[in-house]
Amino acid sequence: TEKLLRQSEKLALIGELSAGVVHEIKNPLTSIKGFLQLMQAGTIETKDYIAILNSEIDRIEQIANDLLGFAKPKEEMHPLDIAKVIDEVVFLLNAQIKKKDIIIDWQPPISDVYVLGDKSQLKQVMINLIKNGIEASDNADRIEVFLQTNEAYVFIKVKDYGCGIPQEYLNKIGESFFTTKKKGTGLGLMVSHKIINNHKGKIAIESEENKGTTFTIQLPIYKLDS
Ligand code: ADP
Ligand code: MG
Repeated sequence: TEKLLRQSEKLALIGELSAGVVHEIKNPLTSIKGFLQLMQAGTIETKDYIAILNSEIDRIEQIANDLLGFAKPKEEMHPLDIAKVIDEVVFLLNAQIKKKDIIIDWQPPISDVYVLGDKSQLKQVMINLIKNGIEASDNADRIEVFLQTNEAYVFIKVKDYGCGIPQEYLNKIGESFFTTKKKGTGLGLMVSHKIINNHKGKIAIESEENKGTTFTIQLPIYKLDS
């Protein structure tokens, strides 16, 4: 029943979200269609508009990416070595951030820590948080990713030294479509919150303007021999 409840909560949320997402996707689609029609009619020079078309398509791709882990119909919970999950994400992102000279300083734990989770969803959360850190950082800044544990929980920390979050925005963070970025979707944290909730965990934020931000994900530890 608990699982059913979570499924139905999720469906309700997806319904709520769809309206917003459809709206967000319709804008770039309308503009792509419009430009294609003008091109077809020969009214405009094709090559001048390729960049616009590309950026509108990027926009749709971005929205799809932000919703990716979430859109899966059914989560699959397995015992996961959390350090391995983070390894994969850091590897992936390191390959992507060549533009900014940012170093992801990932300190794997000394002993294995397991959680019961959906691997692709948890990867999605880590990608969302680390990407936000990258986007908030200047060139050559460092992003630290490390774990802390107590008897019952693992705390995954993502710490950046970037622009920070103004006090007045803190309570808006994680609302759908709240973004301060020109090309933001405001979906990343909302999706991350939902995923972590589904994993019986929590996300906490500490942030100071111009100093940086730390996101802490708290998840129950899965005891392998229990
Ligand atoms: P998006 O990244 O598309 O804007 P998110 O849901 O990922 O959407 O983040 C929402 C907002 O939260 C961002 O626009 C930004 O204002 C703020 N934010 C999130 N993470 C950070 C961070 N590490 N440093 C500063 N601001 C952040
Ligand atoms: Mg984001």
